[in-house]
Parts: sequence; C-alpha cells; structure tokens
Amino acid sequence: MTGLPKNIVILTGAGISAESGIDTFRDEGGIWDNHRIEDVCTPEAFKRNPELVQEFYNVRRAALLSPEIKPNAAHYAIAELQNEHSGTVTVITQNIDNLHERAGSTKVIHMHGELLKARCIKTGRCYDWNTNIEQSDICPCCHTKNTLRPHIVWFGEVPLMMDEIYKAIEKVDLFVAIGTSGSVYPAASFVTEANARDADTLEINLKPGQNQSLFKRAIYGLATEKVPFWVESLLKNNVSRRYPGLTKKKFD
Ligand code: NAD
Repeated sequence: MTGLPKNIVILTGAGISAESGIDTFRDEGGIWDNHRIEDVCTPEAFKRNPELVQEFYNVRRAALLSPEIKPNAAHYAIAELQNEHSGTVTVITQNIDNLHERAGSTKVIHMHGELLKARCIKTGRCYDWNTNIEQSDICPCCHTKNTLRPHIVWFGEVPLMMDEIYKAIEKVDLFVAIGTSGSVYPAASFVTEANARDADTLEINLKPGQNQSLFKRAIYGLATEKVPFWVESLLKNNVSRRYPGLTKKKFD
C-alpha cells in the first residue's frame, strides 16, 4: 500500500492501559489471578450474588478515578492521530476505562461497556456513574431498588455497537490491534474481516497475541514506546520509513 491509509480502524485492549496502572486480565498478576470469571463477569454471577459483582466493579471504578491513574503516551498518540489524520480513525476499545477520552480521543466505541456508567436492567437506560453502585440505590428511571447494574458486557452477552464496528471495518484500509491477547471474540476476529477486505493489518503488543498469525505486520514492545513511534511514522506519511526495520519476526 502506498500513501497514508485513508480509513484506519484501531482496536485496543487491556495492554494499552497497563502502563497507566490498570491490570490486564490474562497477564501474570492480572485480574484473573485473583478472581474467577464465573464469579464476577457473567449475568449468572450477578443473579447469584449481585453484591459481590457490584463490589468487583466498585473497586475498579474507584481505582480508575484515583489521581494515580492517567492516560499514557499510547492513548495520547492515538488521540493525536484521530485529530491530525484527514481520513477516518475509528477507535474501538475492549477497555471499560475512559483513558482514550481523557487523552483527547473524540469518538471511542466501547464494545465491552464503560465502568463509569450504570444501566437500568428494566429500561436499558444508561447513566453517568462516578461512585459505587449499590443494590439499595434507587434507579433514576424506575425509582426502585435492585435495578442498576454496571454498564459492562459480561461473558455470554452481546458486545455493543457491532453494526457501527462492522461498518467501519467494511471500508478499512489499515487495521491495528494494540495490547490485546486476541482471545476474546468477536474482537479477535476483526483482523480476519479486515484481511478479507485486503486491508493492511498490524499487531502492536507486548508479546504475540493468540491470533498473531493473522496479522501482516507486527511491532512488539511496550505500548507507551511503540504506539507513539508508529503514529509519528504514519503521520510523517513516509512509506519507506513507516515501519522502519519492521518484520513479522522482529521482537524488539
Ligand atoms: P488481556 O488481559 O487478555 O491481554 C492483554 C494484552 O496486552 C496481552 O496481549 C499482553 O501481552 C498485552 N500487554 C500487557 N502489557 C502491555 C504493555 N505495556 N504494552 C503493550 N501490550 C501489553 O486483555 P484483552 O485482550 O483486552 O482482553 C479482553 C478483555 O479484557 C476485555 O473484555 C476487556 O473488557 C477486559 N479488560 C479491560 C481492562 C480496562 O478497561 N483497562 C482491563 C482488564 C481487562
């Protein structure tokens, strides 16, 4: 491909927020080392023990709002790309944090929901929510208790905004996955859709994800180093230097 790709789709995962102090799920010391998915991240878990599930997300919401958690250089670089690129840059994140927005990204598709929102289980309405969600909270729309849940897509639930995501992928020229293990579907299959449209596909990750063989290119290393480098190369629109020294086998 020559020239700056017109339509860019970026998929981010927990790895982009790791250096901001938010644990990933699957890495050593990650969230799954201390919790079982079936206890805290499924609709069944919420039915069985809503207090435990609320507590799991209340702790994460409070942590996200603490002064120590800030966007990092990778979030800022993506925001810069969104603001500077004359084509489209669609940011799809599996993350439930708000670090892309805080870095200046204008439009972010949160396919797995948002930690700073509560949703009414009866009406589906969402509310900005910066404090704990308690079972005793009175829902703003139905005025009863036990109806608010975190606005999070749990395992077994359908991800959000899929129509918009597939519309963006339909016309993608460059698809980039950043900091995702490629193990959660449907996000892990977006690269296949992009390849089917003959797009360039790039993985930026600490180490190869489970679907690494599907990407045409790869850059391995810390998101805070590799993402700004990649964005800078792209914005320079210098094709010969766009991915300097980059090969599929390179681990730097
Ligand atoms: P994951 O934990 O499965 O994988 C994390 C990936 O990031 C791995 O490939 C790892 O090698 C890479 N990584 C770790 N540190 C990195 C760094 N500094 N730079 C670059 N890459 C790094 O996460 P996933 O693939 O996003 O899994 C999907 C699920 O995780 C989603 O459902 C998402 O909602 C959830 N999640 C979100 C957050 C968040 O909102 N910040 C945090 C944890 C998990």
